[in-house]
Amino acid sequence: MAKPMPVIFFGHGNPMNAIEENRYTRAWAALGLEIPKPKAILSISAHWYQPGTAVTVMEAPPTIHDFGGFPPELFEVDYPAPGDPALAKRVQNLLAPLQVELDQEWGLDHGTWSVLNHVFPGADVPVIQLSLDETQPPEFHYMLGQSLAPLRDEGVLVMGTGNLVHNLHTYAWGRSQPKPFDWAVRFETMARQALLAGDDTPLVNYEHLGRDAMLSAPTPDHYLPLLYIIALRRDTDQVTFPVEGVDGGSVSMLTIQIG
Ligand code: ZN
Repeated sequence: MAKPMPVIFFGHGNPMNAIEENRYTRAWAALGLEIPKPKAILSISAHWYQPGTAVTVMEAPPTIHDFGGFPPELFEVDYPAPGDPALAKRVQNLLAPLQVELDQEWGLDHGTWSVLNHVFPGADVPVIQLSLDETQPPEFHYMLGQSLAPLRDEGVLVMGTGNLVHNLHTYAWGRSQPKPFDWAVRFETMARQALLAGDDTPLVNYEHLGRDAMLSAPTPDHYLPLLYIIALRRDTDQVTFPVEGVDGGSVSMLTIQIG
């Protein structure tokens, strides 16, 4: 049997990464050359955070420019990867009896395309997205991730895209690069240790870890995609961090590769 596909959590950070070249984007591009080319990608993005679980089912998902206050070049980016309606239905079946809506309205948001623009610049791998149900607790998202396990044996790359530490109140926009906040470093260190130890419990129960966690994940949206990824870890998998760094003091750019 072929080796299972890896699963990857990307720290996407500032949307400008989509069109810039920097240490993060170069590492994303290198990763795209290193992993086996997937048949399709299922992306769980921080930016599709809504009531209910839905999966995009259109043949040609539009590139969504879901942000404001950025230069026109960023609004001109098109990431024309095809969709994969059959995979969307497969995901719907894997998650049954949960009601999963087949969505024709969303598309690819910048959590997905700002990263894939570098990982697979040819946009030749079909991509679908799964929404994050904002009404559900962390354990729900972890359990949904577990249900997606067969996809790893079907050539599908399951990716989460968010940021392990994501506090925009303290983020330094612009060119200066302050030192990471102590609480951000402590939270990331705790998470890395848990990831390397294969201990999912503190990661799922992060809301009970106190002040460092509250400052690092003040809202769940950028954190929750991680839970889908760790839920797909198998005992034989290695955990590695192909991209590291903290941007603007309070956005962790950590990429977590499992398998
Ligand atoms: Zn984001």
